[in-house]
Amino acid sequence: MKISRRNFVKNSTILSGIAMMGMKTNLFANEEDIQWDEEWDVIVAGSGFAGSAALCQAIDLGAKTLMIDKMPVLGGNSAINGGAFSIVGSPQQEKRGIKDSHELYVKDIFKAGLGLNQRELVEVIAKNGYEAYKFTTKRGVFYRDNLGHFGGHSVPRTIWPAINSGGKITLPLQAYGKKNGATIRTRVILDDLIFDKSGKKVIGIKVRENYKFSFDPMSNEEDNKSGITKYYKINGGIVMATGGFAYDVNFRQKLDPKLTPDLDCTNHYGATGYALRMMMRNNVKTRDLGWVQLGPWGSPDEKGFGISPVFAIPAFAYGVMVDARTGKRFVNELADRKVRADAILNIHENPDGSLTHPIVFCDSVGATGTRKENVYRGIHKKVIRKFDTLKELANFYKIPYEGLKKTVDDYNKYVKNGKDEEMDKPFFKLRGKTPDISKPPYYAFRAIPKVHHTMGGVVIDTEARVYGKDDKVIEGLFAAGEAVGGPHGASRLGSCAVPDCLVFGRIAAKSAVKLLKQRV
Ligand SMILES: Cc1cc2nc3c(=O)[nH]c(=O)nc-3n(C[C@H](O)[C@H](O)[C@H](O)COP(=O)(O)OP(=O)(O)OC[C@H]3O[C@@H](n4cnc5c(N)ncnc54)[C@H](O)[C@@H]3O)c2cc1C
Repeated sequence: MKISRRNFVKNSTILSGIAMMGMKTNLFANEEDIQWDEEWDVIVAGSGFAGSAALCQAIDLGAKTLMIDKMPVLGGNSAINGGAFSIVGSPQQEKRGIKDSHELYVKDIFKAGLGLNQRELVEVIAKNGYEAYKFTTKRGVFYRDNLGHFGGHSVPRTIWPAINSGGKITLPLQAYGKKNGATIRTRVILDDLIFDKSGKKVIGIKVRENYKFSFDPMSNEEDNKSGITKYYKINGGIVMATGGFAYDVNFRQKLDPKLTPDLDCTNHYGATGYALRMMMRNNVKTRDLGWVQLGPWGSPDEKGFGISPVFAIPAFAYGVMVDARTGKRFVNELADRKVRADAILNIHENPDGSLTHPIVFCDSVGATGTRKENVYRGIHKKVIRKFDTLKELANFYKIPYEGLKKTVDDYNKYVKNGKDEEMDKPFFKLRGKTPDISKPPYYAFRAIPKVHHTMGGVVIDTEARVYGKDDKVIEGLFAAGEAVGGPHGASRLGSCAVPDCLVFGRIAAKSAVKLLKQRV
């Protein structure tokens, strides 16, 4: 123990409610009494999109930069993410003549977020998404010539890196950072912030090196005592890029009792509330913690994120989702995630308590909206099923055939007339024509919502400065990405997390370096 205990103010009165899970003190110190183990200009906690963008930006601005991650591998949710990245004005949009605007982008995000969004943050994401995209291409990320239309977006505006994986963005950024002098460490957990004696400025952090993460989702991370404590001094600022908490089963259920442990989760195991609770104990202001998003495209036939969300993109766009008990549609298949997930959960349980899963399917033309390999992988895993006739599909899933046939006939009529009279789903073209559901074979999967994204987090401003409960900026503390609440309101639109993380990761690093220059 290198910090003299008597110099800490144990501010236990601010600890309350959920922040008390695994309660500890927060650290206030007289700087001269601390024996720092290391000294850095900028420290980035978390190695996902937000952390990786912050790392590159801080290095470009000449800061001595350290990135830490508590996990044995880098990348967090970002590395396992689908790589879908929505921006206005991409070359992919231009090539296809898609008319889009920042205003429309903001409007779409607001609609999905039920208007609870922090407007100025959304505007920053909309306006700086393209710049963030360019920032990544200049640092080794390649995007293919493909444009997707995600549910809730008014126009197609989603692009992907070389393959559908966020790792194709984080890895080149981390490689760039390392090549240009950054230090990156795994298995280092951020335990606490160290403030100056005024209690208002962050001057360092307490970490544990050689941390061994427990992969038991029911455990509380505060009970894990592994690792060796160290103290890192920070001359500029710390960027909290510590992600969301969807895999923190106990914590998420405390926030929303409906989120029971039996609900599967798409996240990496490290998506716990440990860093968030630490910030709450340090008087950081939070918002929207109860808004936890369920992805409507999960499958009960595989664990985690899996392959179904990839196939669901064309299946929802060019096919239908039906209640297996009736064969009828029950929601606009391109509504935002919350609307679809809520609709599924509404019909999910039978009166006798058993569960039913809606069936999502499209025909052979619709299925070409994703790569063949994705469909084959899904079939191989028995998540996606292939049927030569509608009758076969109905028999397999025990759907009343007459009901299913009528749904498909009606849907095909709507496509022909260009108006979905039932659900008002917008129709989009695939290679110049809107596919109906008439060309077998048919491809289908069973759907179930999975816990996917936590909208809530710490409160920041457009400079990524974190606010305290007293509504004042906490000097030296910055945050970006899923650790932040505000941009997405009640529900995040698909493919909007990547731009959010990259844009605010860069901003947080710029702010930390600006502070560094003011401090020296
Ligand atoms: C399977 C999946 C697919 C997705 N697909 C898409 C998509 O295609 N498009 C899209 O826009 N969004 C998608 N999302 C959402 C998006 O991936 C996340 O919102 C985003 O990756 C969050 O990035 P981040 O940098 O904020 O956090 P993360 O990438 O989660 O990184 C946070 C890191 O911080 C580390 N950390 C946490 N606490 C500490 C601590 N105390 N000390 C040290 N390190 C710590 C974690 O270990 C983790 O590595 C997807 C999410 C999932 C789960």
